[in-house]
Amino acid sequence: MIPNDHPRYRSLAVREHLARCAKAGILSLEGLTAHGRGEAFDYLIGERTTESALAAERIAAALLVGARNPVISVNGNTAALAADGIARLQQVSGAAVEVNLFHRSEERIRKITGLLEEQGVRVLKGDAERLLPLSHDRALCLPGGIGSADVVLVPLEDGDRCTALREMGKTVIAIDLNPLSRTAQSASLTIVDEVTRALPVIARFCSELSPGEAAVLASGFSNRDILRAALQEIQERIAHALD
Ligand code: ATP
Repeated sequence: MIPNDHPRYRSLAVREHLARCAKAGILSLEGLTAHGRGEAFDYLIGERTTESALAAERIAAALLVGARNPVISVNGNTAALAADGIARLQQVSGAAVEVNLFHRSEERIRKITGLLEEQGVRVLKGDAERLLPLSHDRALCLPGGIGSADVVLVPLEDGDRCTALREMGKTVIAIDLNPLSRTAQSASLTIVDEVTRALPVIARFCSELSPGEAAVLASGFSNRDILRAALQEIQERIAHALD
């Protein structure tokens, strides 16, 4: 039982929730360690949505609302942490949602799909095919989903698949707290923010942006500048940590 006046209450409660999801077979044990890496980077950005992340979230909304066939790719961590955020973003962006896992089994796909559906997400189903040039199971995706998407939102991605999706000509939006990861460096657009904070903000911008604003934002951004700004914010925070 975590006392709710504990200074790290939220973080501890999230860990407890993720441990339960791992025991239930939704999250892989490896997903728990990936969460730990995310927590470490969240400390470095101050556990808040930074200015550079907010700017990236606005651009992400512009890319999603302007896309022909946007798809949100969901793994175990994202489903466990943010099924409600995915549901809301799907509602306002019209994006399809596909489950894509590194540690893939039909049972995990079924459990994650069930969890998402409980929150009102419409999840794509069908026979996945090895459409991506990867030697692991993240290569498996649906021809009518990620296979034919022009814009793919990939919270908590691995760098290999991000690169493969880019090489297929897709626009890839990553949500990754680590601005130094291969994913962050290879995505078309990287949001350096925690997934449960990022999704509602992207959803809000999807409702607020006019088509004209979205077109301007979608065509004129530099991911290198966004990552540089995120690293600068971390540097400044470290420089003033003992003030
Ligand atoms: P890469 O292959 O891109 O170099 P990696 O090996 O770090 O990345 P994973 O092990 O799949 O990739 O880790 C997942 C990434 O997700 C980590 O960079 C971590 O910082 C990030 N992450 C974990 N939890 C969250 C979260 N809740 N919100 C946003 N990002 C997160």
